[in-house]
Amino acid sequence: MPPWAEAARVLRGVERWLLPAECLLCERPVGPAESDPLVCPLCQSRWHPIPDPVCPHCGQPLEGDLPCRICATWPAALTGVQSAVWLTGTARAAVHHLKYRGWWRVAEGMAPAMRRLAPLRGGVVLVPVPLGAARRRERGYNQSEMLAAALSRLLDIPMRPDLLRRARETERQTSLAPDARRANLSGAFVGRPAGPRRPVLVDDVFTTGATLLAAAEALLAAGATEVRAVTFARALRPLDDLVTIAS
Ligand SMILES: [Zn+2]
Ligand SMILES: [Zn+2]
Repeated sequence: MPPWAEAARVLRGVERWLLPAECLLCERPVGPAESDPLVCPLCQSRWHPIPDPVCPHCGQPLEGDLPCRICATWPAALTGVQSAVWLTGTARAAVHHLKYRGWWRVAEGMAPAMRRLAPLRGGVVLVPVPLGAARRRERGYNQSEMLAAALSRLLDIPMRPDLLRRARETERQTSLAPDARRANLSGAFVGRPAGPRRPVLVDDVFTTGATLLAAAEALLAAGATEVRAVTFARALRPLDDLVTIAS
């Protein structure tokens, strides 16, 4: 066991001793035998998997024979994006705890929901979507890196956070319409040359895909030939919601 893993194990013990053994999301008591004490199995069982069939490029569930509205202008080399669950209920709560409440270890309870996503099969290298330096300082960690690290441990696949960095800070995306999101993120990332040819991006939430698109473009410019991606959650009807916000 590497020293950091041993330190994490010890800290976990201290954390459990300091805190009551209850689920972070529903506050139901959890026993020591349960594999992840932060998110109880009941909360995990209430996450709603993204239903098949999905768009082969962006992973959005297809509506009959209608063409996908999300990825029509994506480069063909960004493909095979998949998300594990809808961003609702306790899945939304898990993301909120991971992102805004400092509970980085929730990622360990989220990663198992992603383990069967197709882009993770084969000899892949995980690349977490990076945060800007200011946001990372404010949060203390990058939530996408925590998810990628949990997946890396779970599936025994390599993670390379050094392959992608933010070139500049960007405005928060939440209130921006799709075109504005894309403009906001254009050139926001820089890839490290001579990285793996088929990296897999890891992010917490898929909304319009603008972040993954900008990150993928940086990896492609740095020499990747195909970029896939996985996210824990996917926003319900992101385009409709954004139209409502924008109008
Ligand atoms: Zn629970
Ligand atoms: Zn699509």
